[in-house]
Amino acid sequence: QNRDKKYKRILLKLSGEALMGELGFGIDPKVLDRMALEIGQLVGIGVQVGLVVGGGNLFRGAALNAAGLDRVTGDHMGMLATVMNGLALRDALERSNIKSRVMSAIPMSGVVDHYDRRKAIRSLERGEVVIFSAGTGNPFFTTDSAACLRGIEMEANLVLKATKVDGVYSADPMKDPNAIKYDHLTYDEVLDKKLEVMDLTAICLCRDHNMPLRVFAMEQKGALLSIVVGGKEGTLVSE
Ligand code: UDP
Repeated sequence: QNRDKKYKRILLKLSGEALMGELGFGIDPKVLDRMALEIGQLVGIGVQVGLVVGGGNLFRGAALNAAGLDRVTGDHMGMLATVMNGLALRDALERSNIKSRVMSAIPMSGVVDHYDRRKAIRSLERGEVVIFSAGTGNPFFTTDSAACLRGIEMEANLVLKATKVDGVYSADPMKDPNAIKYDHLTYDEVLDKKLEVMDLTAICLCRDHNMPLRVFAMEQKGALLSIVVGGKEGTLVSE
């Protein structure tokens, strides 16, 4: 069963917005179930899956700050939001009989496990899905940076970023009909062209540790499974 997969271990970043589906706020249980199904397909062929979940469907520090809250307090709220999303994802995975655990960068005894790199790796090796929540645990960072950080720490073969668009374009394809899609970009091209793939901290981390990154559309059914067996959906960012 293991023979087809190209990547042994991946780190998938799911934004909070992805969990929101068609709703304007919160979590759409239908979306959770679909994600559980697609993640289960990876586990089924023996791929080890780590997830980093965002919180933008609930709270974002920068938005709360713009509305008058203290930035660090807002970031703390944003990180707590990612823990709620993590719990919802774990629930959906376990209902689909996929063993999973949530780890949080901020200790939350009795609710989720505190992040521990060695325990996380052992869980992945046992075939459990590990959901990394609370981002990096620090304000002024994003869950994109957390995804690259955990991907590097877990020695994942690939970081995958699920977005609404099916890759990286030269301009916003929703607004500019002449926007072209890139199949491959180097880290420096992303930085030089100021392409909005991930924030700069995340791209620099990947560049410094040579962690390949693929941006793809999760809404495209089956794309995730295709990528782990060598498909070229979306855009690859690497050396
Ligand atoms: N956040 C943070 N530190 C981190 C990760 C996240 O302070 O390491 C906060 C930040 O306020 C951010 C919010 O959590 O706006 C939600 O994360 P993010 O915006 O990355 O979620 P996404 O856009 O992926 O849904």
